Amino acid sequence: MSYGGYGAPPGGGGYGAPPGGGYGAPPGGGYGGGYGAPPPANSGYGGGFAPPGGGHRGPPPGADPQLWNWFTSVDTDRSGSITAPELERALINGDWTPFDLDTVKLLMSMFDVDRSGTITFNEFAGLWKYIKDWQNVFRHFDRDRSGSIDGPELRDALAQFGYNLSPQLLDLVQRKYANQTAVHGGPPPGISFDRFVRACVVVKQLTEAFQKIDTDRDGWIQINYDQFMQTVLTLP
Ligand code: CA
Ligand code: CA
Ligand code: CA
Repeated sequence: MSYGGYGAPPGGGGYGAPPGGGYGAPPGGGYGGGYGAPPPANSGYGGGFAPPGGGHRGPPPGADPQLWNWFTSVDTDRSGSITAPELERALINGDWTPFDLDTVKLLMSMFDVDRSGTITFNEFAGLWKYIKDWQNVFRHFDRDRSGSIDGPELRDALAQFGYNLSPQLLDLVQRKYANQTAVHGGPPPGISFDRFVRACVVVKQLTEAFQKIDTDRDGWIQINYDQFMQTVLTLP
């Protein structure tokens, strides 16, 4: 039994569900500042949305004005919904590098609840909260405040989520999601915010796929080719 306590990434929300809140429900409080206040200067730490540019339509009745402000700044063509390219342009890591397209697609697939291919304002509320929650997780585990997650930081994060990966597996994850290739003989390079989110989500999804088959939870499964292919191909 090597995959630990079946933990979940932050908030414990199910796949696709924003941690804690329901769709359409405005978040409980202002993020960082009061409603309408500009985001705090350090809100981009780790990564997240680039600050909104301003110039927007009025929010729908009952909408959180700050959230609406962000939504309209991401919806650059004012179509009323957010496409993958619009989301890609809006998301940045703490070091100002853009999110990988893979991460953008993963987020789209998780929060495009009605499978329309775009993110509406109601869907955006979940996405926004999810990224905010991950910012806090990233901040927590980036102990040396380097802006990236190194090997020991990754180990602590995954362990806290309940995934007890062997050192070899941790090294594999670190190298797969690191932003540069390792210098020969040196330590694996760090993982940026967006790749950290992706790494954790992928570990969660793979673990859950395994657990589905490992019905007696002994850490072993026996599957045939067909089941293996089906498991791998149905992963997002
Ligand atoms: Ca749009
Ligand atoms: Ca949608
Ligand atoms: Ca670090």
